[in-house]
Amino acid sequence: MKRRRSFLGGLAVGAALTTCLTVLVAASSTEKVSPVDPRPRDVYVPNSERLAPDEMRVIACGTGMPNPRMAQAAACFLVELGNGDKFIFDIGSGSVERLAALDIPWDWLDKVFIGHLHVDHFGDLGGLFVGGGVGGRHVPLKVWGPSGATPELGTAYAVEHMEKMYTWDIAGRLGQTDIRGFTTEVHEFDYKKPQIIYEENGVKIRSWPAIHAIDGAVSFSLEWSGLKFVFSSDTFPNKWFNEYGQGADIAIHECFIAVPDLVTKWRLTPEAALQVGTQIHTAPEAFGKVMSTIKPRHAIAYHFFKDHDTTGPILERIRKTYDGPLSLAEDHMVWNVTKDKITERVALVNEHTWNPPLVSPAIPPDPNDRVGYSPEIWAGRFDDVDEVIRPIYEEAGKALGREFKYPGD
Ligand SMILES: [Zn+2]
Ligand SMILES: [Zn+2]
Repeated sequence: MKRRRSFLGGLAVGAALTTCLTVLVAASSTEKVSPVDPRPRDVYVPNSERLAPDEMRVIACGTGMPNPRMAQAAACFLVELGNGDKFIFDIGSGSVERLAALDIPWDWLDKVFIGHLHVDHFGDLGGLFVGGGVGGRHVPLKVWGPSGATPELGTAYAVEHMEKMYTWDIAGRLGQTDIRGFTTEVHEFDYKKPQIIYEENGVKIRSWPAIHAIDGAVSFSLEWSGLKFVFSSDTFPNKWFNEYGQGADIAIHECFIAVPDLVTKWRLTPEAALQVGTQIHTAPEAFGKVMSTIKPRHAIAYHFFKDHDTTGPILERIRKTYDGPLSLAEDHMVWNVTKDKITERVALVNEHTWNPPLVSPAIPPDPNDRVGYSPEIWAGRFDDVDEVIRPIYEEAGKALGREFKYPGD
């Protein structure tokens, strides 16, 4: 079988090795290097590039597993379109800090599509709900997700109870800051029925059943401007993905940790490793079969811990059954997609982002909305600090030419 590899670790893109060598030789013989002028960069720096009207950008904001890991958050992929729309597919634990590093106004990160309710696919919904609200989202967080076999196994139940979990958090913000973003809009749809669940502004998002753990998991496609993005969330290979994944420009599908590593590194019993690694999820060899069936322009494998000693074996297993264009995903990989080409880079992010610009201005809080303290708690204030805090109010008043009322006066 023909194998394709690239010089980048874990990447095996469509170009043949000889072509790569030709390009390298050509580049090395003609490139002029200046000690003062910049050279073209092969990384993606957030907010440094205009998205063309017909271009799609996909950014991996989580590619890992349910168990926490600094190097990889759990499942999350951001899709940005040249018409200005942005969509989040899965919001696994740890992924919100990856989203935050992209420095995108939170009002624009208000649409989340959840494939199923495992923590590694929706565990950071609370982080997006509260963190995005604090970060300047002044619109409701809109969540699309599947129903379950019973109402309490569905997305609406999960989101309703997540909001309840934050009762104290939200009560403590009333009258203190602008909390208009601390609401949700849930769009729960039938997990069993392949159907269009979103159609707006030229964007069509479809859902179909996945086979994963229990009933109630789904996969998605997003079609816009002649481009098609497909995302499995988690699933055993199935007929619906084979059907609705056809014609994908970008096909992202889970590709689970290989069974030997599930035993030696994951510390599962062989019985559990075989069940989890091949029956509940998609084994690398099975991932290859799926991609050989749907033949996307570019396949992306995610949902394994990508290390120096796992990348090679996963690639070997995939290449037993698929020899097309492929990425083994890691966090902050970026794909720009047009009808003519697909480019892959990594994002160079600022880990010290503050809040991005506000899309809609914040509204001052109404102190009358405050829940406040009981008299016993209020009476415990260290009054002596008033003398150092009152000048802060006066300083702000002078700077802004307004008077700010000191609490309790
Ligand atoms: Zn899962
Ligand atoms: Zn998963």
